[in-house]
Amino acid sequence: MHPYLHRNGAIMAGSKQRFGINTQLAHSGHNPRDYHGFVNPPVVHASTVLFPDARTMASRNQKYTYGTRGTPTTDALASAIDQLEGSAGTIIVPSGLAAVTVPLLAFLSAGDHILITDSVYNPTRRFADTMLARLGIEAQYYDPLIGGGISALIRPSTKVVFTESPASNTFEIQDIPAISAAAHAGGAIVMMDNTWATPLYFKPLEFGVDVSIHAATKYPGGHSDVLLGTVSANQACWPRLHEAFLTLGCCAGPDDVYQVLRGLRTMGVRLEHHQKSTLDIARWLETQPGVARVLHPALESFPGHDIWKRDFSGSSGIFSIVLDGGGERQAHAFLDALQIFGLGYSWGGYESLAVNVFLGDRTIAKGPYEGPVLRLQIGLEDVEDLKADISRGLAAARI
Ligand SMILES: *Cc1c(COP(=O)(O)O)cnc(C)c1O
Repeated sequence: MHPYLHRNGAIMAGSKQRFGINTQLAHSGHNPRDYHGFVNPPVVHASTVLFPDARTMASRNQKYTYGTRGTPTTDALASAIDQLEGSAGTIIVPSGLAAVTVPLLAFLSAGDHILITDSVYNPTRRFADTMLARLGIEAQYYDPLIGGGISALIRPSTKVVFTESPASNTFEIQDIPAISAAAHAGGAIVMMDNTWATPLYFKPLEFGVDVSIHAATKYPGGHSDVLLGTVSANQACWPRLHEAFLTLGCCAGPDDVYQVLRGLRTMGVRLEHHQKSTLDIARWLETQPGVARVLHPALESFPGHDIWKRDFSGSSGIFSIVLDGGGERQAHAFLDALQIFGLGYSWGGYESLAVNVFLGDRTIAKGPYEGPVLRLQIGLEDVEDLKADISRGLAAARI
C-alpha cells in the first residue's frame, strides 16, 4: 500500500471508510498531492489574498478571500478535527478559553438564560458572571450530577446548556445523553467542554451534544508551548457558529495552528502512555497513607465510574487526590516537597504538574472533602520516578 493513501486522497472529513484512530491521526486533514507531495501542509502566513480580476474580487468567488476567514493551514487542522469529532465544521481560535467564549457569544442574546455545570472550568464561570451578565444573559449553575433532572431548570428562555465532563479539578461525570435529551426537549442546545477526554476517548456529537469545545493547548498541542482552541458543531449549529467566528475576527496564528496539527499526529500514542501511567499511579495512590480519596473516573471506587464506563473509551492523564485531613499548610508542604512535578497551571504536556485546587467559586459541587484537593497531571516521565516524587510530597504533608 502506498504510505500516504493519496491515490484515494488523504483521509478527509466525511470519508466513508473506517480507519483506526492512529491511522486517522496520521493521515487526516491534508492530502500530500495537494501540495507537491510534501507530507505536511504549508504554513500559510496571510492577511491579503489576491483576486485575478475585478469581477472575482467583487463577487469574492474564490476559495480563500482574506486571512481571517481561513487558509490552507487552518483548513488542514479544521478538517482533521471534523474527522475526529464527526462534525459539520470546526473553527480554530487562539486559546481554549476563546473556544468557550466564542460559541457562547454566537448562541446567546440579551434576555436569554444559560445553564452551566457548577464544576465548570473557572474562567468559563468568570466569563458568564461578568461579560454575559453585562450583556443581559442570565447564568444559572446546576449540579453536575443532575442528569435528566435538568428538565426542571429549563425555561422558555434557556438557549444553552453548558456541560463539562469530567468536571474541572473534581472530575464528576455528567450523564451527557440524559442532559442532551432534556435540553433538546426544552428547546436548548448543548455545548460540551471535552478537553479532558479529547475526541479519542469521548465523541460528544454522538451523545447528543451540538457544539464540542476543546482546549487544543492541552493534549493536541502536547508540549506546553502553544495556546489554541477548537469548536466543532453539528450541521444545525455550524452556520451560526461560523458566522460568529467571522464576525468576531477571533482567528489563530498560522504557526500555532501548524504546531497543533503536528501534535495531533502523535496524540494517540501520547494519550495511551498518559492513560497507562496515570491509572497505575492513581491505583497505587488509593493504597497510600495520608490519601483519603482518589478522584479519577476510571477507578471503580469513583462515584461516576459506571457512566464513565458506559460512555467513554479511555481516560487521560489528569486527576486529583484528597488528603486525609489538613489544610493549606499540608497542601503547600506536599507541593514544595516535589522535585519532578512542576507547580503550574494548564496540563496535557509531556511533563508532570501539580496544583492545589481552589473550590471557593462553587455553590453546589463543593464537597465536603476530607482535606486539601491536589490535582496531578501525569506526564510522560517514568512511573517509578513519579511515585517516588509523590511519596516525598505525602511524607512532607504528614509532618
Ligand atoms: C485549559 C482549559 C481551557 C482553556 O484553555 P487555554 O488554552 O488555557 O485558554 C478550557 N477548558 C478546560 C476544561 C481547560 O482545562
